[in-house]
Amino acid sequence: MEQADGTRSDGSTEARPRGTAALHVAPSGGAATNPRRYVVVLEVTPDVARADEITKALALAKRLLDEAFAGSSYAQLVTRDVWATDRAHRGQAAASALMAVEVELECLGWPGESTARLQTLLKQNGYRVIAEERRACAEEGCRSEAVLLPNRPNRRGRVDDGWYSETICGKHNYKTCPGCRSVFRLLSTNASGPAASVACTECGFVLVEWGSSKHWEIELVTASAVSS
Ligand SMILES: [Zn+2]
Ligand SMILES: [Zn+2]
Repeated sequence: MEQADGTRSDGSTEARPRGTAALHVAPSGGAATNPRRYVVVLEVTPDVARADEITKALALAKRLLDEAFAGSSYAQLVTRDVWATDRAHRGQAAASALMAVEVELECLGWPGESTARLQTLLKQNGYRVIAEERRACAEEGCRSEAVLLPNRPNRRGRVDDGWYSETICGKHNYKTCPGCRSVFRLLSTNASGPAASVACTECGFVLVEWGSSKHWEIELVTASAVSS
């Protein structure tokens, strides 16, 4: 329970918001790199815009990024100050004030696990988290991108409508067997008559019902981890 003054009933002040953390993840560079490069930008704005609070927020942001991305390869952190500038009034110079600090890193491959860990760490440290992810399909040659707001999950949770998974868009005919969770790629050719049904090679679940207007072939991508 949190009291009005921000202290919790157990006496800790850990849950009191100390500021806002805006997390932005987007593909970087061309689609030719495999795995794809992503840029992660974390902007932390302390509730109290004082130089010492901003210095503390920067140290925390770096520490949490290090912790969240431990074990994954990423390029060196780049930090930038974020200034708020009031419009110049007549006869007065514009006033600038340091209000936030931004830390950026670049990593190889979709950093979904690390950014999820980072969001948890930020919340544990009393930050409100605003996140936006722009992702690129990991399939070679595919240019599909999607924007996801992880704080506002859609009806499929973290996966976008129309996407097969967090890293693969819906254009590639992937199918997960509901029976054993094996993943197949479905390839179709036109059938002259009603096509035969197609069953999972691992568990026998019918993946495509009899009578489809296309003839389907299935290619096993990943067998279920569950052994029969
Ligand atoms: Zn795709
Ligand atoms: Zn199956």
